[in-house]
Amino acid sequence: MIADFAVMPAAFWVAVAALWGAMLGSFMGVVVYRLPRMMLEDTELNLAWPGSHCPSCSSALHWWHNLPVISYVLLRGRCGFCQAPIGRVNLLMEIASALIWAGAVAGLGATPQALVWGGFFSALLVLLVIDWQTMLLPDALTLPLLWAGLLLASVGATAVKLNMAVWGAATGYLALYLLAWGFKRLRGIDGMGGGDLKLTAALGAWFGPWALLPLLLISSVLHILLALVQRQRSQPVPLGPALVAAAVLYWACSDQAWMRWLSGA
Ligand SMILES: [Zn+2]
Repeated sequence: MIADFAVMPAAFWVAVAALWGAMLGSFMGVVVYRLPRMMLEDTELNLAWPGSHCPSCSSALHWWHNLPVISYVLLRGRCGFCQAPIGRVNLLMEIASALIWAGAVAGLGATPQALVWGGFFSALLVLLVIDWQTMLLPDALTLPLLWAGLLLASVGATAVKLNMAVWGAATGYLALYLLAWGFKRLRGIDGMGGGDLKLTAALGAWFGPWALLPLLLISSVLHILLALVQRQRSQPVPLGPALVAAAVLYWACSDQAWMRWLSGA
């Protein structure tokens, strides 16, 4: 049986990864809804309890209401009980997560490497959505991401060696600390939250200190563009989504000449 799995065509594993990604994306919907509430409100809520229910009518969902992507299509984007529209963010996260995992397995094969990078980008996706919606980057996500970067570097499972991961984490934190301090001196307001510092430290741990210059340059440009496009937004545009987008771009383009030039390589 094991031998049979070993000779399965690559497309099979990409399909399995997409399915797993969609299911994980469905769980991400729970995390982005509940984690900020667990942090900000005095609530009994946790990630496992209570079971999924409609936020409008509180009806407990049946399993067939909970199938990633499929349920959304079958229910035409509405609650099966009260017809209240279901937020599209969950659907988008299911699709994005399916793409992340299918992409990781298509690019790296059904390997531990695919698991490592699939997990990395899944965590970034959750952070992106939470920061966009609530201006928070929870420690419960940024700190494990930082530790995972250091630990995985120690066994050679990321792109950088352990010493570079340590320097990346420290430099990332310090760089953002100085930027935040300078920003406050110039503008008199807090432009960044502590979460931005920890997320940048985590990215430094995963990519090493030389990645920080391109990451920070790209995320600054993206942040300014986002703020221009989103001028109508009631709250300020957070930095987290721009950092995440910069990380994706860096990962995808780290072999390109312009990116190597920016990294000083
Ligand atoms: Zn409902």
